[in-house]
Formats: sequence, C-alpha cells, structure tokens
Amino acid sequence: SISFITLGCNSTKNSGNNELVDEIDIKVEELIKEMTLDEKIGQMNQYNGFMDFTGPTPQNGFEAVKYENIRKGLVGAMLNVHGVENVRAVQKIAVEETRLGIPLLFGFDVIHGFKTISPIPLAEAASWDLEAIKKSAQIAAEEASAAGINWTFAPMVDISRDARWGRVMEGAGEDPYLGSLIAKARVEGFQGVDLTSEKTLAACAKHFAAYGFAEAGRDYNTADLGTSTLYNTVLPPFKAALESDVKTFMNGFNILNGIPSTGDAFLQRDILKGKWEFDGFVVSDWGSITEMIPHGFAKDGKEAAKLAILAGSDMDMESYLYVTKLAELVKNGEVDEALIDDAVRRILRVKFELGLFDDPYKYCDLERETATIGKQSFHDEVLEIAKKSIVLLKNENNLLPLQKSGQKIAVIGPLAADKTSPLGSWRIGADDETAVSVLEGFKKYNSTNQISYAKGADLILNKPLFTTELEINTSDTSGFGEAIQTAKNADVIVMVLGEHGFQSGEGRSRTNLDLPGVQQQLLEEVYNVNKNVVLVLQNGRPLTINWASENIPSIVVGWHLGTQSGNALAQVLYGDYNPSGKLPMTFPRNVGQLPLYYNYYNTGRPVEPAPNQVFWSHYIDESNDPLYPFGYGLSYTSFEYDQLEVTNKFSENNVVEILITVKNTGNTSGKETAQLYIKDLYSSVVKPVRALKGFQQIELEPGETRTLQFLLTEQELGFYDNSGNWVVEPGTFEVFVGGNSKAILSKQFEI
Ligand code: BGC
Repeated sequence: SISFITLGCNSTKNSGNNELVDEIDIKVEELIKEMTLDEKIGQMNQYNGFMDFTGPTPQNGFEAVKYENIRKGLVGAMLNVHGVENVRAVQKIAVEETRLGIPLLFGFDVIHGFKTISPIPLAEAASWDLEAIKKSAQIAAEEASAAGINWTFAPMVDISRDARWGRVMEGAGEDPYLGSLIAKARVEGFQGVDLTSEKTLAACAKHFAAYGFAEAGRDYNTADLGTSTLYNTVLPPFKAALESDVKTFMNGFNILNGIPSTGDAFLQRDILKGKWEFDGFVVSDWGSITEMIPHGFAKDGKEAAKLAILAGSDMDMESYLYVTKLAELVKNGEVDEALIDDAVRRILRVKFELGLFDDPYKYCDLERETATIGKQSFHDEVLEIAKKSIVLLKNENNLLPLQKSGQKIAVIGPLAADKTSPLGSWRIGADDETAVSVLEGFKKYNSTNQISYAKGADLILNKPLFTTELEINTSDTSGFGEAIQTAKNADVIVMVLGEHGFQSGEGRSRTNLDLPGVQQQLLEEVYNVNKNVVLVLQNGRPLTINWASENIPSIVVGWHLGTQSGNALAQVLYGDYNPSGKLPMTFPRNVGQLPLYYNYYNTGRPVEPAPNQVFWSHYIDESNDPLYPFGYGLSYTSFEYDQLEVTNKFSENNVVEILITVKNTGNTSGKETAQLYIKDLYSSVVKPVRALKGFQQIELEPGETRTLQFLLTEQELGFYDNSGNWVVEPGTFEVFVGGNSKAILSKQFEI
C-alpha cells in the first residue's frame, strides 16, 4: 500500500514552478492507480462533523457510521470539525487506519473571521479598501488554520441587488466590478502566496451561480435571469476568483433558468471546467444534490447522484448520495469511471497542493493554536478594517464628531450594550458576547464625558441563535420611559438601532426593511424630547430609513462590525478616524422598489417625462430614486471634483486617459474614494446607465488638491455578448467621475 509519506511533495502550483506541478500530477496519477472504485468515491464524500468530538469511537448511530466510513477510506473531507485535538483525532483515522492513508480536508465557514471576527463581508466591501479586505482574510486564515482547518467555504462572491435576501451580508454588494476586485482580494488573503504554508487555507468561490438572484429575495429560491446579466454581472466575480487561483468552487441551492446549479453541466462543465479551464474541484452545497429531487429535476437519489456527477459536481456535501449510489452507477455503465477519476484527481491535487501528504497534521499544532487564537495583533487589524467599513450617511448641525469633553452623552437602544449582535451572522467559530459593544466602546474611549445608558426596549425576545427563528418584540414599550428620561438629560444621544446579527444571513429573508420591532417608535419618541440624535445603525443589509433620513441630524451605518465593533464606532464618532466608507449596495426608499441598483437599463421612455404623463416606467406612489445610492458616503470634511479631462489615445494604443482633480474643501484631513463610471451609449447589447470601471482612494489634507489618472482599456470598455464572448465595439461612451454613482461630471469620447 502507499502511505502519505512516500507521496510527499514539497511544493504547489502557487509557487509557479511547473515542474513541481507536474510532479503533483504524477503523484496524483500514481495514487489513483492504487485506488479501488469505492476509495475513489470516498474522496468525493464530505460529512458534517461534530463540534464536540471527544474520541474516535462515538456512541450514537449515524456518527458511528461516519467514523466507520472514514476508517474504510470512504470519506474525503469533513466540515465543522475544528480545534487541533479534534482535527488530529479525525485525521489520524484517515491517515493511520485506512488502507491508503489519504489525509482529509477540513472545511469550515470562515466567512469573516474564526474567533476574532472582522466586519461582515458587506461591511468590509464598504471600505473599498482591497488591501484591508485581503488582510482580514489573511488573519481569518491564520487563526482558523491554527485550529486545524485547511479549507474555508469563502468567499461568497454572489452579486445581489435585493436587500430582502438575508445573505447580502455575506457578499460584496451589487456591483460586479467592485465584487470582482474584492473576490480577488479575499482569495489572495485566504490562500496567500504559498498554499503549503500552515497559515493559509484553500478558498472556495460560492455559490456557482446566481444564488444571489433568488426571486424576491426569498432564500434558496428560483433564479431566472437573462444571458447578458449572467455573463456581465453574475459570472465576473467567479472569474476573478478563478484568476486568483481559487482552489475550489461551491455550487448552490438555486435553480438557474430551470436547472438546479448542482446539476448544471452548462455552468460547471462548459463554462467553469471547459472555457475557464478550472482545475480545482467543485463541492456541492449542503445537501444540494439530494435537493434536486424536490426541485423536480431528479426522480430519486440515484438519479440525483448521476445528474450531479455528469454536471461536474465533484464532491458531495452531506447528501450521502455519492457514497451510496455512485459505485452502482459506474458498475451498470450509467456513469463513466473516467468522470470519477477526473473528480478524484481534482480533489487529490488540492490535498497535495496544501501539503497534506507531506504532513497531514501540519494544522494540528497545539502550541500554535494556543498562541494564535485571539492574538492581540488580530484585534488591532480587525479594529482598523472596522473603522474603514463605517459609512456616514448624514451629518447636519455638526453633531459629529462628538466633543471629547464637556458633553453629556446618552447611549440608547436595544443594540447599544449588545455584545453578540455586532459579531453578525456567519461567525460560527466565535463565542457569544465577545464583541465590544457600543456602550463599552464609548466608556472605554472617553472617561471625561458623562455617559448614561438606557436600553429602551428589547429587539429579540428569545435567545438569538444562528439556527433558530427569532421572536421580535413588537409591543413591549415598558422601557421607553427610562430611555426618554435619559435622553432629556443628555447633550447628545447615540441611538444604536437596527438588525440583530442573526436577522441577516442564511434563511433570514425579510419583506420589510424598516427598523424591526418597536425601534422606530423608540427613535421618534426619543427625538421628540431631544433632537440631538446620532443614529448608529447596526445592520446586515440596506434598510429603509426614510423617516430617520428626513429627521435625524446624523446617521452612521455601523453594520455588524465584528469583535471590535464598539471601539471602531467610538473612534469614528469622536473623530479620531474620519469616516470614509461608501455604500456597496443601494439603500432603497421602499421595499416595493426592490430590486433596486445603480446599474439598471434605460427604458424606451423618457427619464423625465412631460408633466402629467402617466405612461412611463415609474411608480405612482414612490420615486424611482434610492434613498442613498451605490457608492455614497460622507466624511467630516468635503471633497470637490473638477477639471475632468479625457485624452483619447484609443486608436493609437488602446487607452483612454481620464484625469480628474479632487480637492479637500473642508477643515480636516480625510480619505475619499473617487469613482469612475462609464456608459456605452449604443451597442449591440444594451448597456446599463452606468457601470463602475475604476476607483482610487486618496487622503487629502484640508485645501489639498490632487489630480488622479484613470486608464480605460479594452478590459473596461468591452463586454460579454449573449454567447459569452468578450467583445469591444466601436462607439460613443460617456464617462462620469465623482464621489458616488450619481456623479455628475461627465464627458463623452469615441472609440
Ligand atoms: C451554505 C453554504 C455553507 C454550507 C456549509 C450551506 O447551508 O449555503 O454557503 O458553506 O452550508 O456550512
């Protein structure tokens, strides 16, 4: 038999050394030759593990089957086993007790941190700071890998335009250009430059594809979308992940144009493994192979397994169908063994690339685990990214920044002292109550000011958990009296309202995006007695905050910022960090407007029709405009854009040069994200009214002016036609530059 030691290989594809890649290929082929059909299929099987694994002989039934199967070599990967001792114990069975000793992959949802939690991905996207986002993924990888994990089910690169969908918190928002750059940053952060390092993780681009287009934002639901949107909006972030050498993809629960993505050969075989030449593996989503039965695509488990493997799903997460049905399908000739070999080859290659055959226990160092989890430097880093993620929506009457002394500050609201909610959804490795609350942040930050606190009301009545329904408080206002009294005695009120961390995430779709429960009423009653209110939102998605937007002088989007939440908010509200975040998703006025996004198509009807004209694309009861557009965010200073210049050298060297000057016109230094959008005025496939094609972040001192240069090449000016081919068409373009997607400075040019 072959042991992992004789198969050792010290390098990876990431090292860029082709000889060593070939060496891996040779070793993979050698190993496959040794494997029985059952052992091959075993590699394609992933089981959910046990959080409280205590030894290799669990007592209860199904766990026992799983462990027995590991021992028989019928398991390729586990998920949700973590902690060095647990991972070592499970790995030991695979490596020491199976015939071939092939090590297991250990996957986990390391979405925005493991124990030390970064802002939710949507919040991080608001930073538009790719280095910071990469750093955050790097920290998550270093910490999770110290706990035995070697594979993360992240990044989620699903574009979504519908804030009703709870999983928008897990993505980078609505724009494919920003989404692609963030996908790249996250993959590079997780995987590092050397995948064999014990501090990195294999990443997973998910959910392939169009899961974020779930109809009406209902999770798991139908995606039905046009070809142009598929190629130009949905697929680009996946392509970006692939180009960053992401090792795995996950398919999804949704159907796309009638085909479950798990059984979609067009997506997985034609595009991903065909046209894009992806050589890693595709894992199904949790039970998504078996879900093809209720979808009405497969008649039974056997057919589901067959359709999934034919379509290119290489690993079965928790459907138990590959391990129970594939062998029979191969034996009766319904599935070619070559397809099994191809899947196993892909899975084994990732294991070699991780260096697991050299040392299957490389992630199992108890000392490193103890020294790494919760390191101070992680806290320092996640604090930085949290500050960068905060978006200032409104600041009238100079309420912000707060004064550092001589102010009586009341911190009010159901989320003000909450230490769990700021961790957000999808932080399953972290412990409850480990976030710094806003109240704690304020108290710690400034001992000169007098700080009072009132909760006002509960938001959730039962214990909020990731996996259970939440009971929202819709009637108990008994705490309002105390809140109102506290507000009356304060100079400034910091009201912390929004969604609990578990009100977004998987399975948390909403039809109403107002402040849940009695919070709106609390806000209005507090405002009635004291108008100096700073509203700090904690949210996993855009919210409809029209009343606040009209009445409350200062509004800050504080998202779910992770472990350092309260410290980050205190530093920003006190002005030690000048807010610089920009919305990665449109804030609607009204849920009825959804899906609402900045890069929509024009209709044939005028945008501003003649008075009294009824028949144009609009609502009779609401404007088409968002409350806050994509890319929007203020600073304590202000910026002015001027002198937009276009130098068109496209006919000579395929470049259009755009120059713009940005000036800091306020009294304090600040950071601005200058954004460039284009519109292709006429083309064979119509184009959105605007599409982001570049951005730059600059720090400017008061009065300072800087000229920025953007270059537009075929990469920015082309598009995918309806056959998925990249084309660049001659024509007239308009370019817009400014501080958000409503930027008004514009010029036209022709290519
Ligand atoms: C989610 C995936 C996740 C998987 C494993 C599924 O329910 O859709 O995104 O990676 O569970 O936890």
